[in-house]
Amino acid sequence: MYTRDFNVDETGATHPLEQGGHQPLEDALQGQALAAAALAVGSNGRLAYIESYGCQMNFSDSEIVASILHEAGYGITTEAAGADLILLNTCSIRDKAEQRIRTRLREFQGLKQARPEATIGILGCMAERLKAQLLEEEKLVDVVCGPDAYRSLPGLIAEAESGQKAVNVLLSREETYAEISPLRLDSNGVTAFISIMRGCDNMCSFCVVPFTRGRERSRNAFTIEAEARDLYQRGYREVTLLGQNVDSYKWLNPETGQTERFDALLARVALVHPDLRVRFSTSHPKDMTDQVLQTMARYPNICKYIHLPVQSGHSDVLERMNRTYDREWYLDRIAAIRRWVPDCGISTDIIAGFCGETESEHQDTLRLMQEVQYEMAYMFYYSERPGTLAARKYPDDVPLEVKKRRLNEIIALQSEHSLASNRRDLGKVFRVLVEKESRRSAAHLCGRNDQNKMVVFGREDWKPGQYVNVLIEDCTSATLIGRVVSPGQMESVAVAAVQTA
Ligand code: SF4
Repeated sequence: MYTRDFNVDETGATHPLEQGGHQPLEDALQGQALAAAALAVGSNGRLAYIESYGCQMNFSDSEIVASILHEAGYGITTEAAGADLILLNTCSIRDKAEQRIRTRLREFQGLKQARPEATIGILGCMAERLKAQLLEEEKLVDVVCGPDAYRSLPGLIAEAESGQKAVNVLLSREETYAEISPLRLDSNGVTAFISIMRGCDNMCSFCVVPFTRGRERSRNAFTIEAEARDLYQRGYREVTLLGQNVDSYKWLNPETGQTERFDALLARVALVHPDLRVRFSTSHPKDMTDQVLQTMARYPNICKYIHLPVQSGHSDVLERMNRTYDREWYLDRIAAIRRWVPDCGISTDIIAGFCGETESEHQDTLRLMQEVQYEMAYMFYYSERPGTLAARKYPDDVPLEVKKRRLNEIIALQSEHSLASNRRDLGKVFRVLVEKESRRSAAHLCGRNDQNKMVVFGREDWKPGQYVNVLIEDCTSATLIGRVVSPGQMESVAVAAVQTA
């Protein structure tokens, strides 16, 4: 029996799982170690343990790091206790995330005492933000390596082993790790992420990304297409193209002399195979073009789902956030999505209580939500990050209890909208890519529909990687629940729907 008395989805998150951009992934995934039964042995007899925090970009980077280390002779282990090399791939987006890493480092202190020869390193955004301070303050860190310096990791480890503290936090204008094939160690074998760019040139005033991940660079489209083709041949059936701002993808094709933008890249990957679904994340309202929407409409295998962060529903707040669009522009982009891709699922990010936010500005956010009716949202209250434009320019002056109250109002409204959206799907049939067993019942499987909604259905003989048509019979605010129907049954479902109407 599949239990429905829950308000979390199959991912365990209290909100839908964001699969890209720079929002942190769900709590249950934070601190996850890369699993690697097949790679437990390396050519140098040493073992590396990699723990990841933060957003999908960081988790994808850990797969690149694993690839570099494996090439250098390391096996990959899920046991920190037996590892010769312990790496934490860190996130700086919120203070809480950094505190968690510091706690984790203190836990590793015990391990280091038992095995003084083990090397401990910090990777990712915190490495970039805190640099040498980590070596000085947290005496047990031997290596600090920023997101653009992973190729230098084997050299840094050697330096650390010779007794020196090793740091490389240089940001690059070129590095995209284009030809490195990530080791997809935690994969379900069905869905995978492909990084198409790094860094960000926007300077949203609340964000650390431009400081921790540097200038925006787009990866060679040939290598992206080759990675997608390789994944398809290995049985994967869905790829998500990943970048901080995918709409500003821009790459000069040396064969044609033409600059390829994101719409061309989308089409290129969609053409790999009609059975390979293509998703992308994250879009920026200022850059999202009609050409991208038209490309989505043209290819059935490009999923009809867009994550379009709004952050606030009031133009003055958006200006203080330096988002470079206003409320009207944003709503125009939503109208364009509805025009070109009418069945598109839309989700967003919202920050409650940004610097100087008044009650009426907050009410405008709620009104915008009413107008758009998002399928899903990531909702946070503002947390000031040192070094950002906002920290330098605006006082963080909305009291914590007001931030929390506003956030609760936003969450309550979004829950209503998510439930209403799912109820509108009752009686519809969706093509679902089977991903895995349901977390709540071994008799059920789950997968996502085109609109990125999680769908749960009876197990029968279906296998991960297959597509099934599911008739939706029930729902919660986070999950659709149904049964698989055959093409013949779909006709009778359609007749029944016409009669009901
Ligand atoms: S678009 Fe803005 S919020 Fe997103 S990564 Fe770039 S600076 Fe940060």
